Amino acid sequence: MQDTTLWFPYAQMKHLEVNYEVETGEGPYIQFTNGMRLLDATCSWWCMIHGYRHPDVTQAIHDQADKLAHVMLGGLKNQPAADLAAKLVEITPEGLNHVFFSDSGSVGMEVAMKMAVQFWQNQGITAKCKMASLLKAYHGDTTGCMSVCDPEEGMHSMFRGLLPEQHFAPAPEASFTASADEVAADIAKLRQVFEQHHHEIAGFMVEPLLQAAGGLNMYSPLYLQEARKLCDEFDILFIFDEVATGFGRTGKLFAADHAGVTPDIMVLSKGLTGGYVGHAATIANDRVFDAFWDDDAGKAFMHGPTFMGNPLACAVALKSIEVFERDDYLERISTLNRVLQDELLEFSHPEVKATRVLGATGVIEVHDAASLKGVQDFAITQGVWLRPFGRFLYTMPPYIISEAELRQITGAMKDWFSRDQ
Ligand SMILES: *Cc1c(COP(=O)(O)O)cnc(C)c1O
Repeated sequence: MQDTTLWFPYAQMKHLEVNYEVETGEGPYIQFTNGMRLLDATCSWWCMIHGYRHPDVTQAIHDQADKLAHVMLGGLKNQPAADLAAKLVEITPEGLNHVFFSDSGSVGMEVAMKMAVQFWQNQGITAKCKMASLLKAYHGDTTGCMSVCDPEEGMHSMFRGLLPEQHFAPAPEASFTASADEVAADIAKLRQVFEQHHHEIAGFMVEPLLQAAGGLNMYSPLYLQEARKLCDEFDILFIFDEVATGFGRTGKLFAADHAGVTPDIMVLSKGLTGGYVGHAATIANDRVFDAFWDDDAGKAFMHGPTFMGNPLACAVALKSIEVFERDDYLERISTLNRVLQDELLEFSHPEVKATRVLGATGVIEVHDAASLKGVQDFAITQGVWLRPFGRFLYTMPPYIISEAELRQITGAMKDWFSRDQ
């Protein structure tokens, strides 16, 4: 019997076989204790954007550990946290000026929700205490976050009794390149939800352009522009969950940059630290921040995770962003994008429903999840580590991957469909 002391995520432990143990990593490869090495097609849930053991990023965390590994942010400043806050204000869309740190994407989203609700409370508007979200959304696994994930498709339906009820609009259907007319249909559905419920909606949260863990749905930047107008019309804060899309995944530094839209609150995590340590940033504009700025202590934002502003996380994030800029990752990502388009967009097979590419994200969607049973073992024989979910076989590679290595990944994804049955 296997050792059950280590409880794995998203898995029935009784049937889970974990046969491989990772010992090191190098560039886009993970290396196993048995000597095998595999290309990591999803860079560890999309966060290891520099691949493994990047010399500069690794050095930054060493150097910081020698100086100061951790200190509370309660009433004490530390230089890496202050510098990272300034850097994030510089690189995020114009107008996002106030950075609140926390320790993971889920907590960063919880912070955004509390911020949005208290924003209205502080102005005496107590009815706006719910969120609006999209079907196919995924915003994290904590209680508040579960309540804004797709209530049917998500993994959280059994917790319904625990969760606050929120409002949902249909997932946008108009694709990334759709016309304004096509987008109008999506926006009409959003308008309906706002018209009916705006009195109680504090904020509308979206994963801009790419709904990731809820079904790898890609949609139009025009949707974000129109939704911004609707949020203003109905007095609803617009919140971007860029935990997955931030730091280049959609082809620009932030998905917001495709639309030229500034949300009221933006949340970053995953790629923020280059994957080296868990950390998140919830970044607010002046309008949101000013609602907390008062002589009344009761209007202060009452939140403060133990590890917020952790110097190791902030120092490694600063170096990660420096490398991203210095080595022109956006150019690399556009090369990866061309390879993914070239490899995947024309691909068809009776089991395949659709293929999609955006930035450094490539997806093969099948009609039936059963078509993907066994694909992970098959990919290992091709030297690739894939982790599909539901009906989605996808890659979100580290940006340092070479063209040839990326073609090896897409090759394994496509070759699966010509396996011997
Ligand atoms: C991964 C993810 C989260 C949750 O982040 P964790 O660090 O796993 O808590 C939230 N939102 C989106 C869009 C994500 O992809």
